[in-house]
Amino acid sequence: MAKIRDYQGEIRVCASCGQPCYLGDLEPGYGQGWQHFHEQWDGVFCPFFPLAGTPLPMEWDGMALQQVKAVYPDTYPM
Ligand SMILES: [Zn+2]
Repeated sequence: MAKIRDYQGEIRVCASCGQPCYLGDLEPGYGQGWQHFHEQWDGVFCPFFPLAGTPLPMEWDGMALQQVKAVYPDTYPM
């Protein structure tokens, strides 16, 4: 599970919860799938979590995306 602050690839928005998601490796043998980020562990109410629902492509402005990454709350339990 990737961290949103470190992730360099395409970020989409999950149609079910409205939160960012990314395309990454699933459990070994299951290929790739759209899923939520490490920081969202206890912080998003998504029926598909840790996977994402329909991933909506975004036309991020580069600066805006950097800010989302910078301020995104990290709710992963310590
Ligand atoms: Zn979701």
